[in-house]
Amino acid sequence: MDDALAERVLAPAFLGAWSRAVIEEFRRPNHCSSCHGFGERLQLIGLGGNRARAEVVSCEQCIGQGVVPWSKKRRARQLSIGEHPYRNFLNPHHEGALALLRELEHRGAVLLLRHLGTDGST
Ligand SMILES: [Zn+2]
Repeated sequence: MDDALAERVLAPAFLGAWSRAVIEEFRRPNHCSSCHGFGERLQLIGLGGNRARAEVVSCEQCIGQGVVPWSKKRRARQLSIGEHPYRNFLNPHHEGALALLRELEHRGAVLLLRHLGTDGST
């Protein structure tokens, strides 16, 4: 990272903008166009002849997540920064922060279900 970019990235205003960009993607994810955000889809399995059965399978396009990442271009635009420096230096941190938010959301949901006694553990 060149000095000018490092100086800009380390400024508190930029870090705040970066945090808001990560939260914005968390709040408004790109739902997978293949499974419409469900992470699963129905697949017809041929049984021979003209018989088939439907089976729920994990979506291959989003690896069962139901969402696909924003493009790096869109992420860079959120920060008013070039796509190349974003891709090389900031994207891994964006991915990590976004994964952390999703993990926290999941843990919160598990705790809530456990508290309500609807997680099957009671
Ligand atoms: Zn999908």
